[in-house]
Amino acid sequence: MKPSRFVLHIPHTLREALELIDALPNARLVAGGQSLMPMLNMRLAAPDHLVDLNRIAALSAIREEPPDVVFGAMTRQRDVELSPLVGERLPLLLEAIVNVGHRQTRNRGTIGGSLCHLDPSAELPAVAMAMDAMLTVTSKRATRTMSMASFAKGLMTTALANDEVLVDVRLRPWAPGHGWCFVEFARRHGDFAIVAAAAMVELDRARRITRISLTLGGVGPVPLRLLDAEKALLGGVGDDAALEIAGSHAGRCEAMSDPAYPSWYRQRLAQRLLLQAMRSALRRARPR
Ligand code: FAD
Repeated sequence: MKPSRFVLHIPHTLREALELIDALPNARLVAGGQSLMPMLNMRLAAPDHLVDLNRIAALSAIREEPPDVVFGAMTRQRDVELSPLVGERLPLLLEAIVNVGHRQTRNRGTIGGSLCHLDPSAELPAVAMAMDAMLTVTSKRATRTMSMASFAKGLMTTALANDEVLVDVRLRPWAPGHGWCFVEFARRHGDFAIVAAAAMVELDRARRITRISLTLGGVGPVPLRLLDAEKALLGGVGDDAALEIAGSHAGRCEAMSDPAYPSWYRQRLAQRLLLQAMRSALRRARPR
């Protein structure tokens, strides 16, 4: 199918984009188009106006603003993947992003589009949740910053108002020597994850866990931080018994269900993948 008729607007500055998105009725922003355009073709969305963000250079850069790494919302997924800064400081993001679609889709898809589309199985929202990302959104009215936990409201529903644009995403690298692992189970490489798990740990000299983040993707409508499991593991050495208890939290969480992957299947997957992710993260961690 083809999209219903729309008018395409191509602003060259953020200010122009904000004016357009504020003034135009039934308007949508388009970034890489890798999710929105298929939705238009399937008539799952029928905007009268598309405001194209691709000519706004200020929205696509990766920069350090210590202690954060800041990604402009229009940063291509492929540029994230190839960024030396990401390779050095954000290994969880690097391990996740290679699972996002295919190289061709990552050439066009953006980090901001993935977070705003907020597919429950998408890898980047899970990483943003795991790393307590901070998102900056702006409109003609005001600019505000919020955590990923506040941004992700529900199934493919964000806290964005209709006249708001996501401007940047801030990730704060963990201490050198931290352990990390992003693992997912998908039907084929490049498919959306059925379930994904992300684990990060920091260890003290006695290999006790001093900091931990455990997140599941593809289970709930938004990425799920396992705060109880994190609490249970903090201060311990992450022995097998403790990991099994933490894994059981994943196995009991409320999981989406569909004919192909019922909730019991996702819960079973979540428990296995979280155990795998925790064990890898602990193996990779260097006590400090
Ligand atoms: P668009 O499609 O342009 O927009 C997506 C939504 O976000 C729209 O509602 C748009 O209005 C809104 N939006 C975009 N930018 C902003 C902004 N700055 N401010 C406010 N709203 C904004 N994704 C995965 O996570 N994992 C996968 O395995 C995966 N596989 C894929 C396989 C294929 C074949 C394809 C085509 C896509 C796949 N995707 C996958 C989706 C892909 O990662 C998209 O790039 C991503 O979901 C959306 O990013 P985008 O830049 O293309 O956004």
